[in-house]
Amino acid sequence: MEAIRIKDIWKKLMCVSVIFLLMFIPVSEISAENEQNPAERDWMTNEEFLQKLDEIAESSSGRVEVDVAGHSSQGTEIISARVGTGDQVLLINGSIHGNEKSGGEALVEIFDFLGTSDSSFAQSVRDEITLVAIPRLNVDGLEIPQRQNIFPWDEVVATYPHLEGADPAWNYNERNRGFDINRDFNADLDYEVVAEDLPGNTLEFGFFITKEAQLLRDLYVDLQNEFGEVEAFVDLHHMGTPVTNKTGEEVTIAIDYPPLGPDDSSKYDDYPKLDQDKSKRYSLAAALGVMERSDNEEPGVSQYIHFQERDYPGQARSSFALNGTATVLFEMPGQQPQVGYDQELIDRVENGLWGIISHMADGSIDDLNGDDFLELPRYWTDSVTDMRDVLERFTEEGQFENTSDARLLDNQLTALENYEKEENSEKMVKHLQGFKVVLDDQLEKELIEREAYNRLNNDTSTLLDRWN
Ligand SMILES: [Zn+2]
Repeated sequence: MEAIRIKDIWKKLMCVSVIFLLMFIPVSEISAENEQNPAERDWMTNEEFLQKLDEIAESSSGRVEVDVAGHSSQGTEIISARVGTGDQVLLINGSIHGNEKSGGEALVEIFDFLGTSDSSFAQSVRDEITLVAIPRLNVDGLEIPQRQNIFPWDEVVATYPHLEGADPAWNYNERNRGFDINRDFNADLDYEVVAEDLPGNTLEFGFFITKEAQLLRDLYVDLQNEFGEVEAFVDLHHMGTPVTNKTGEEVTIAIDYPPLGPDDSSKYDDYPKLDQDKSKRYSLAAALGVMERSDNEEPGVSQYIHFQERDYPGQARSSFALNGTATVLFEMPGQQPQVGYDQELIDRVENGLWGIISHMADGSIDDLNGDDFLELPRYWTDSVTDMRDVLERFTEEGQFENTSDARLLDNQLTALENYEKEENSEKMVKHLQGFKVVLDDQLEKELIEREAYNRLNNDTSTLLDRWN
């Protein structure tokens, strides 16, 4: 007890002396020190963001326009920025999820460059492209930070009295009193919510209930009216921290084209403008940008999770893709507040965007092969081949007691790979079930590490669901 009390007193004394020291350092010196030391930098506050954009607009000789595009569901201003006079429109959105902050940071850098640079590259971009961005869409979620916006259901009903008594939309989060805005989109851009459509689900379109989704939709429609079509849309996000199947490399950026069900699905036949190959070309351009513009090798540039069954029509990128726009998703590792400011991460977002911008500006984006995008590393399983990749890595990592046990599993996967090619669902189910039995047996005898078991077991379940 005595020791603890002395420690406490010591702690208090330390605090007091730190406060004293701080009192004698002028405020200007503290901020100057912060600027010199990137480790102490933090994600921009809304105030810093607005100030930065104003500075950029002021120093851009009229090239960069900054406007209030509208207001959040809570009435907070949401800002848009625009630069360039080209025929091709590129619309970029940041922080639709409030706990995902790098988008606005990267966009500010891009507007700064395009607003002030007199280089021939900057000039050609401004001539060929009109770049429009909402760098921070979910302004209220960013403040907390939380994924959802703030729009309690009683306020929803006050706004839309005809929803009185209806179930809250499935993408409404009771605890956080707000919506996942990125499930609130509909390919019918004129859609208005009706009680009969609620609560809906992940496989159906969203409802344009939130002011934030309406604002992004309205901006999209305005650009369609002005230019005929919106060439491309990029949505900037953060995710977890996976490693790639083959090498176990940490994923440093994951990129995706729209998640609209299996390729052979007839669900979207009424949307003839949907062009998945175009979205893959734009996604590839982003990946090339990250790799070409970095001083490092960037082996962690990956595809984002995209197995065949993944189908999210209520996402902004899906609804715009169904209206004929090439859409690309960026997912950066780690979310806020857990992951602090990271300059290298922001540089990768920026480089990915430059990849799209530069390939649009010189026209080379149309010559890319969309299928090359599918050659990027994966970190999930969509096929038996993916499972073999993971198994090989686990074997090299020593996750099996004996290599013969790993070989036994690999032999089974080799057979399964053939049945998968033949689309022989009967054999697939039978042999996947057999694979599971061997896995369980190895776990029981402690011949396989828990990590390898869990991953291979989950993958087997995924494929069993598909073929059953
Ligand atoms: Zn997100």
